[in-house]
Amino acid sequence: MGVPLFDTSTPLEGLRGEIREAIDRVLDSERYILGPEVSAFEQEFSSYCGVSHAVGVANGTDAITIALRAMGVGPGDEVIVPSFTFYASAEAIPATGATPVFCDVDAETYCVTADTVRAALTPRTRAVLVVHLFGNLAPVAEIEALGVPVIEDAAQAAGSRSEAGRAGALGTVATFSFFPSKNLGCFGDGGMITTGDAEIAENCRTLRFHGSRDKVTYEQVGYNSRLDELQAAILRVQLPHLDVWADGRRRAGAHYADAGLGEIAGLPKAAGSSSPAWHLYVVRHPQVERLESALSAAGIGHKAYYRTPVHRQPPMRAWAQGAELPVTDHLAATHLAIPMSPVLSREQVDEVLAAARAAG
Ligand SMILES: *Cc1c(COP(=O)(O)O)cnc(C)c1O
Repeated sequence: MGVPLFDTSTPLEGLRGEIREAIDRVLDSERYILGPEVSAFEQEFSSYCGVSHAVGVANGTDAITIALRAMGVGPGDEVIVPSFTFYASAEAIPATGATPVFCDVDAETYCVTADTVRAALTPRTRAVLVVHLFGNLAPVAEIEALGVPVIEDAAQAAGSRSEAGRAGALGTVATFSFFPSKNLGCFGDGGMITTGDAEIAENCRTLRFHGSRDKVTYEQVGYNSRLDELQAAILRVQLPHLDVWADGRRRAGAHYADAGLGEIAGLPKAAGSSSPAWHLYVVRHPQVERLESALSAAGIGHKAYYRTPVHRQPPMRAWAQGAELPVTDHLAATHLAIPMSPVLSREQVDEVLAAARAAG
């Protein structure tokens, strides 16, 4: 049969009518930029996360740059960031004038820890950008206890929660991406910044519109970075279903463990009290090429997302001098994403298992 790596269309099947109506509503309104849909979605998303402010922006990468600048990060500052992540987490930092400083991650949660962050702290550290990688939640409170503000890159963690709250409500500020394949995806690019700090929120609103509050006077060099009305309307239809989809992802992860995948490969471990809505289900295998070919032979989707970690990408080398990140290098060489979606069935999990067993 085969199992795809992810499935973004099945969860939307029953929502197509509502989505069409939402699109028509925007066409009828003739408001396409910063209108009622974006305001309503900002309200709905902030209350979902449990924070007081949300600011829609054009994508998850801009969200990080704008959030950092709104926190006051700029030239001369250092921002600690993991290297085992999507390139954009780090790329968004030099765009503020600040310097990325790479830190290592935990071998089983794939997230930064207070210890890996502490090893990268200097007197110039202005913020720590934690990545809630694959939907797992980095230990924000433990890192804040080191005395530095935390920004959450929650691009992969919509729907994840912990005892302390949801992704997006744990740090000083948080950023999301609504890229189509994320846990909450739109039909193009989109992003969001959440924060409990009214001043940071106001700064983000100004920065997303060319550094202007009134559209005639300009206070800062900003960006043209807005969430579209159309995308906001589409996201409003989906948000009420996010928790059900997140539960489907959790259930699929539990099926993998119950079915015995841990005998074949290293499984991702939920960090602390977190209940991850697995965005990707990423395992580790000492001879990962064997796992890759066994899965390919059975038509099972798989992908190594970060074979070359960010600190070894050429544009980052200048900032990665002397960075020793042994866990990152090991994970880069051994990780593999296997099928995960809100609708991954037990039968599909069994099919993945049967194929993986062939790798030994
Ligand atoms: C997707 C992603 C981003 C960037 O989001 P875009 O909307 O594609 O700009 C940033 N960080 C992480 C961890 C991501 O997965």
